Order: sequence, then C-alpha cells, then structure tokens
Amino acid sequence: MKDNIFTKIINNEYPAEILYKNKYVTAFRDINPKAPIHIIIVTNDVIRTVNDIKEQHATMLGHLFIASAKIAKKEKINHAGYRLIVNCNKDGGQEIYHLHMHLLGGKNLGCIL
Ligand code: 5GP
Repeated sequence: MKDNIFTKIINNEYPAEILYKNKYVTAFRDINPKAPIHIIIVTNDVIRTVNDIKEQHATMLGHLFIASAKIAKKEKINHAGYRLIVNCNKDGGQEIYHLHMHLLGGKNLGCIL
C-alpha cells in the first residue's frame, strides 16, 4: 500500500510539528486547525478506519487516549476541557485513511450532540 501523508510524518519524511511520540502513536499539530488547539494523534501502524480495528490493536488504540490526556495537560487545556473526535469513512468526514484522533480545544467548542 502507498504511504499516506501521516505515515510520511511518522517516518520524518514530511514536516510536521511533532508534539509526542512513543512506540504506538505519534501526535502533531493539524495543518488546517479547526480550533485554537488542534492536534492529530495517529497510530504508528496503519489501520485504515475504525472498521478495520482488531482485538490485537487494543494496546495501540489505548495509547491514543493516553497521549491525548498527556498532550492536553501539556497544552494546559486539561481543566478547561477539550474534544476528541475520530472520523470514519466518507459520511464521517474521514480524509486520511490512517486511523487518528483529533484533539480540539483552546475555546468553548459548544455542544454538537
Ligand atoms: P480526517 O478528516 O481524516 O479525520 O482528518 C484529517 C486531518 O488531517 C485534517 O484535519 C487535515 O487538516 C489534516 N491534515 C491533512 N494533511 C495534513 C498534513 O500534511 N499535515 C498535517 N499536520 N495535517 C494534515
């Protein structure tokens, strides 16, 4: 499978402001932020969509949340709050087919549900 842009960022083959990286996930600022703080946390191994998640991915996926909490604290938005979003396929608004979580904050995001 051809590398997507997130794989290139993970492998340092494409520039991004990397904020966090461990064995399982990598986090960087979104190039087109939808909030004052908009960070992408992506699995280091490619899982195309939520539909492709298998039992064996559980640890890696847990690290999306672990990284989110750590980054929110570092960005000082943990107490004010933030939103985590995972888009799936066309109707969910997914553009990049490499599973990732959006961490959005830095202002009151209101209610969407
Ligand atoms: P999706 O719609 O797939 O859930 O989210 C993809 C996100 O990746 C979008 O918010 C988009 O702005 C971001 N994005 C797309 N290309 C790049 C890039 O080259 N660098 C960075 N940092 N973010 C990107």
